Amino acid sequence: MATRLSAETELAVRARIGYFRDLGVFDFYRRGSAPAEIETISVTEEDSAAAPSALETTLKPTTTSALLEPKTPAAPGDRAAALAAIRDDLGPCTRCALHKGRHNIVFGDGDANARLMFIGEGPGADEDAQGLPFVGRAGQLLNNMINAMGLRRDQVYIANIVKCRPPQNRVPEPEEANTCSPFLFRQIDAIQPEVIVALGATAATYLLGAKSPLAALRGRIHHARGVKLIITYHPAYLLRDPRQKKEAWADLQLAMAELGLQAPAK
Ligand code: SF4
Repeated sequence: MATRLSAETELAVRARIGYFRDLGVFDFYRRGSAPAEIETISVTEEDSAAAPSALETTLKPTTTSALLEPKTPAAPGDRAAALAAIRDDLGPCTRCALHKGRHNIVFGDGDANARLMFIGEGPGADEDAQGLPFVGRAGQLLNNMINAMGLRRDQVYIANIVKCRPPQNRVPEPEEANTCSPFLFRQIDAIQPEVIVALGATAATYLLGAKSPLAALRGRIHHARGVKLIITYHPAYLLRDPRQKKEAWADLQLAMAELGLQAPAK
């Protein structure tokens, strides 16, 4: 006869199952022939490991990344609906501490059928006020970068690793990024862009699942969620050090080559 779980364990298991449902995972299977009680307890142990604080710990390929492999592609007409469903699932999110200081959730913006997706770190003050990504000075520079590629902003999709503004624009804590980024991964799976451009080290870190210096990552093609990934500088960094714009343009040209785009004539 099965042993009844303690109230505390049952609560933890329910929370864990809710977490996976938020990620779009609904099917659970027992491992091997382990008794149900042991199986359930192992899930609970994973739950306690789901909120680590060290970057190295949270970036290692864990249950989350294993369960979030790219899903069956959606038909183009379904992509906007898929994004709307993800937004519904996110709701008035309080899953991490960043909800405390935000004015608006910055879900993402652009074409659900975009071939190109830009991913930054997190909203700043302007983005938090408007609920849209990259609308401040860095956003203006990003718009210019997009136009230089021969595209309009409404032809791409723009999102961030975290959807709520970190206090004083600090880098998101690993726990915050790891809590929020599964929703971004679902957005990538829904949109199925041909190329993602990661803007800055934080975006690169959480898309790759590993931390490396930006200089070591630029200039070549990586993959994230089954999509070609190109890594470049964050526009906010380029505002501080415009000398790096030439390097960033080289990265964008790499993306353009993958997309078969030509820069517009001047
Ligand atoms: Fe939720 Fe993401 Fe905002 Fe955290 S940053 S509260 S996970 S939407």
